[in-house]
Amino acid sequence: MSEPVTPPAYTRPAAPRRPARAARLGVPPFDPEESPLARTRRARRTNRELALIHPDAHCELDFTTPLELLVATVLSAQTTDKTVNKVTPTLFARYPDAAAYAGADRAELEEILKPTGFFRAKANSVLGLGQALVERFDGEVPARLEDLVTLPGVGRKTANVVLGNAFGVPGLTVDTHFGRLVRRFGWTGEEDPVKVETEIAELIPKKEWTIFSHRVIFHGRRVCHAKKPACGACGLASWCPSYGIGPVDPQVAEKLVKTPAASDTE
Ligand code: SF4
Repeated sequence: MSEPVTPPAYTRPAAPRRPARAARLGVPPFDPEESPLARTRRARRTNRELALIHPDAHCELDFTTPLELLVATVLSAQTTDKTVNKVTPTLFARYPDAAAYAGADRAELEEILKPTGFFRAKANSVLGLGQALVERFDGEVPARLEDLVTLPGVGRKTANVVLGNAFGVPGLTVDTHFGRLVRRFGWTGEEDPVKVETEIAELIPKKEWTIFSHRVIFHGRRVCHAKKPACGACGLASWCPSYGIGPVDPQVAEKLVKTPAASDTE
């Protein structure tokens, strides 16, 4: 039997010696003059680097069925995936199917959901989800975006998470990390998540959408933070027009990087 091949460890490319022009001048990194071809090339190069930096990128919510993922994703609003993963074992055992959610005792459901915050609204969504699935979809989670977004508490982001991770249908998950990072990469100047999704869909091959979303979200959670991005410890530094908006000193930046265990998976 042949020996298992260990992939070579990721080596971070050397960071630029000074911040990119956009960061130096404080101008937005999106350049409307950049040609679509140049932007597409940059995007695909960045995606390849992200794949090397985060080879373990994946959905950080625990689930075994489309229904479990749908419920977990609804619960993940305004809280961390880790918090959701703490309550879902009890929840999934107590409510194994859509009919169980539809007939749930509200007080009992709220008690289980309490640690995730906004538990009354979330209990409403989960009850409504169960009822809608039973009434309109025979208790099954539909595998089409246009059906998923008709369910209570389900928007395009949640629908794309479910499609991509439970049904293998490619989807871009435009959450807060995703939007922030693609704007920092200078791939879009849009703030509206639907417009962001449309623009990024033009840059990244469709079959990569789901895994690409995980890579970007991993990078946002671990390296390119909202307040203090770890530019000096970032493997994308050579390609990112926003390099320099966070500390570029490698020692300072390294301390800002969150390990998978410490990342808040929000
Ligand atoms: S950490 Fe800095 S260099 Fe890396 S992606 Fe974010 S803004 Fe760009």
